[in-house]
Amino acid sequence: MKPKTQVAVVGLGRTGCRLAVRLLDLGLTRLTLIDRDYLEAADLRDCPLYKHAREFEPKAQAAKAALEKLYPKAKLTDFTVSLDSKNAARFLSGAKVVCDDTDNWLARKTIGEHCWKTRKPWVYCGALKHQSMVSTLIPGQRPCWSCWNPSLQKPVSCTAFGLDPKAAVAAARMQGQETILICLGKRPRLTGKLWAYDSQTGEKKILPLHANPRCSMCGNRARVSGLKEKNAYYLCGSGQYQFTNKGLPRISRRVAMTRLSKLYPKQFGILTQVHNHAATAMIFPDGRTIVRAKGFKKAMALNSAVVNAIYQN
Ligand SMILES: [Zn+2]
Repeated sequence: MKPKTQVAVVGLGRTGCRLAVRLLDLGLTRLTLIDRDYLEAADLRDCPLYKHAREFEPKAQAAKAALEKLYPKAKLTDFTVSLDSKNAARFLSGAKVVCDDTDNWLARKTIGEHCWKTRKPWVYCGALKHQSMVSTLIPGQRPCWSCWNPSLQKPVSCTAFGLDPKAAVAAARMQGQETILICLGKRPRLTGKLWAYDSQTGEKKILPLHANPRCSMCGNRARVSGLKEKNAYYLCGSGQYQFTNKGLPRISRRVAMTRLSKLYPKQFGILTQVHNHAATAMIFPDGRTIVRAKGFKKAMALNSAVVNAIYQN
């Protein structure tokens, strides 16, 4: 466990304040608390953390004060701010992981862009009435959040529509678990998946999420047809071609072994070797490949298979 990992919790309403408690319970000690709103009577009634807070107090400030009483050793920072593309870097830069419990599409889009750009994991949570959902977004891995939320949605607040505490508790527990896995350096369970819970029926589901080839955030990078010959170099006299594959996410041993399993990967130190009937490729952790083949077309076919496999799992 790395208790000093700085985690940002954005949105300190019914799920966010429960998540903050959960993260500190699980052993984390450093949280950045961000919310643009102030407390209303319904928050004092529905959020256990605000039981002793005052109405109209900024939520982030009230959350910090209440959490400091419960966890005196915690190092908490609070910001009362509406996140946007201009200020996101300033308020989120200290965090290694971002947890989002907002009810606002624009704030999520901002978080999504910041996390994608800075290669930061983002644990998403949405909740309303008796339903809650959680998903984990790892930058460079598709689908990104914009793939399944492409257009502006009207904010629907759980202050107006209510949220069953059971749905909030279950979501905070799931979101906490995902966050801790990331802090431990382990693989989160909900990448490319959406966990959905209905507190009325008690039903829990894990649904697959699909990448959108025209996604404004991640689409262009992933399209293999976008791989131009200028990204490939013939290594003189060796029968080998180098593909730079700019924009590919970093390829760890684990990623190589799972995603490239159909190409029979073999590990040689930091390199991974794969092959098909016509070519053999050596893959570097930064996504670059050196492909030995008789002819560029054959080399390109294997390189495309590698790029596709890395993106489309
Ligand atoms: Zn996308």
